[in-house]
Amino acid sequence: MTKSIDVRNPRTGKFDYVIIPPPPKLLAQLCNRLRRSQVRWQQIGIEGRVEALQEWKQAILAGRDRLTEALVNDTGRLSVSELEIDSFISNIDRWCRLAPELLQETAKNTSIPFIALQQTSVPYPLVGIISPWNLPLLLSTIDAIPALLAGCAVVVKPSKNAPRFVAPLISTINAVPQLRDVFTFVEGSGETGTALIDHVDLICFTGSTNTGRKIGELAAKKFIPALLELGGKDPAIVLGSANLDLATSAILWGSVVNTGQSCLSLERIYVAESIFEKFVAQLVAKAQKVKLAHPTLESGEIGPIISEKQAAAISDHLLDAIEKGAVIHCGGKVEELGGGWWCRPTVLTRVNHSMKVMTEETFGPIMPVMPFSNIEEAIELANDSIYGLSAAVFAQPEELAIEVAQRIDAGAISINDAGLTSIMYEGEKNSFKLSGLGGSRMGAAGLKRFMRKKAFLIK
Ligand code: NAD
Repeated sequence: MTKSIDVRNPRTGKFDYVIIPPPPKLLAQLCNRLRRSQVRWQQIGIEGRVEALQEWKQAILAGRDRLTEALVNDTGRLSVSELEIDSFISNIDRWCRLAPELLQETAKNTSIPFIALQQTSVPYPLVGIISPWNLPLLLSTIDAIPALLAGCAVVVKPSKNAPRFVAPLISTINAVPQLRDVFTFVEGSGETGTALIDHVDLICFTGSTNTGRKIGELAAKKFIPALLELGGKDPAIVLGSANLDLATSAILWGSVVNTGQSCLSLERIYVAESIFEKFVAQLVAKAQKVKLAHPTLESGEIGPIISEKQAAAISDHLLDAIEKGAVIHCGGKVEELGGGWWCRPTVLTRVNHSMKVMTEETFGPIMPVMPFSNIEEAIELANDSIYGLSAAVFAQPEELAIEVAQRIDAGAISINDAGLTSIMYEGEKNSFKLSGLGGSRMGAAGLKRFMRKKAFLIK
């Protein structure tokens, strides 16, 4: 008998949803069925697959209200859920537009006169996706869409913390006959994720670095590729020449959107000594205006913290910083209100790299601000991290900001703004250091990594 999992609603604190993970035999049967159906999915070609995904988009638009309601119950956020659905839909459109051209292959002559070369790309038959809770819909589908277009069958194991969106999403998938045989979800905890790895030909994981390491090891034992998108501790550098108003607004947004529960959150802010006091005063003034999106208290932007574990982790980072001498300018604690856990935007100064809040992923609306005396010091501080996901640099002229950005060990740097990767999917980017492995999920590589190359050498 599989053990059921009770799921807590982050706004009300009530356990109002139950997950029943599939028993091992059922998981194996499901994966075998998907694998068999993949053959037909590959045969219908890219035009057929684009058509099926466009049909799916229509079903999503028709079921959007149910999907939004489920996402709000999963995460407790309001406006971010709408944004998440918008991004998800635009991902379908963008990949449907790009994939046909990306999949075209032409015959080539080789440098050897009597051999001609033809190449083709063959999809991995069954792709497994394991996703986190922080943007549950977007991150469960961001790699599924290109994998499906590449011709793979896909099975997703979302987080047990945010599973309510799955049922309305599956209804939209089931409305498209071609798609429902090759794309599905299985709910469960990490145990189901581990079991899934045994059945797939490629595993795609978004989540913490600790779990990513375990998944990488399991995949290596099974000899299948693991595409890993992991944690971050993104720095922002603000030089003395930066536009202060722009920098404080962008950094506030980049740190507190989605309650700071984003891999791309700015979690460390380094500011030139010459503007430090002004910067902090402006950031605090703006942060104090941001309200909670609480069902009865306030109607603002900041949703609840997803779980007790996450609330404890944020509190631990704050207490550790305070014990080591940090000063809190606003916010500063995790509060239990009406069953949920909440944290107001928090600005800290007198911070240093002996504190968890400057070195470990906090995943909360916390902005620790530290001064630097010259550019060399700023770059050294920004690079003093095990992570290398993304970063932001604020300076005038733009060329100076780019010069600094070139020396930061991270895969994507926003110049004079924050989190631009969240709206930029055209170019390729890698995640550096412990933030990931397995190539770019963006740009052409985001599709091609679901295929293997095959060469025909013709005499
Ligand atoms: P997590 O690592 O705890 O869990 C992620 C997923 O892995 C969940 O579905 C979970 O059930 C599953 N899982 C856990 N243990 C497993 C195991 N041993 N084998 C197989 N599956 C297992 O992460 P989380 O708390 O859900 O998400 C937050 C983390 O995700 C943060 O570290 C954040 O930075 C990261 N993240 C990264 C990106 C990115 O693109 N780089 C995007 C969003 C979130």
